[in-house]
Amino acid sequence: MTSADVVAATESTRALVASLHGDLIRWQLVVWTAGNVSSRVPGKDLFVIKPSGVDYADLTAEAMIVCDLDGKVVAGDRAPSSDTAAHAYVYRAMPHVGGVVHTHSTYATAWAARGEPIPCVLTAMADEFGGEIPIGPFALIGNDDIGAGIVKTLSGHRSPAVLMQNHGVFTIGRDPRAAVKAAVMCEDVARTVHIARQLGTPLPIDAPDVDRLFDRYQTVYGQR
Ligand SMILES: [Zn+2]
Repeated sequence: MTSADVVAATESTRALVASLHGDLIRWQLVVWTAGNVSSRVPGKDLFVIKPSGVDYADLTAEAMIVCDLDGKVVAGDRAPSSDTAAHAYVYRAMPHVGGVVHTHSTYATAWAARGEPIPCVLTAMADEFGGEIPIGPFALIGNDDIGAGIVKTLSGHRSPAVLMQNHGVFTIGRDPRAAVKAAVMCEDVARTVHIARQLGTPLPIDAPDVDRLFDRYQTVYGQR
């Protein structure tokens, strides 16, 4: 495929990823140029991610970068997000994942700074995360350590969110909108549990009830 062919084949994915970056702003999950959303291109070994260091107001569909699953740019004028290698690692290792989101949202990242998982003390957490939100390892940017830490932590875990220690949130989803939703919900429950902690001791939910809530939410809730 030529670069022009890739741009044509990825048009709708680039538009979706551009609009989902607006959701990170709308839900107050990001400041300045931090944070990113990516999406696998359906049926192709490609994904779309934002360019590095570009103002959110300038993240149009045309500005998006198309990469192969090794994180190499195949279409786009600018350097991709500095987190591209981590996204690429997740897409290579987790074929069921169609979208990845990364933020430094305040409350969730405060848990990451302490290296403390968010305990499952809210029915909304059982619904979306199926248990606690786990901590991933400390990892420096620049190689595969962040991607490997995300995959190792989330493999065999029901949570679509991981708090990478001293860093921030990575979420996965069957599509990028699901990954954005997980990032929004992660910040929401991080804030609520933080406030609950300040006022007393949050009550754990029994494991069988967590299972029941998770199963119901994943199979029955919403429009089918
Ligand atoms: Zn980061």
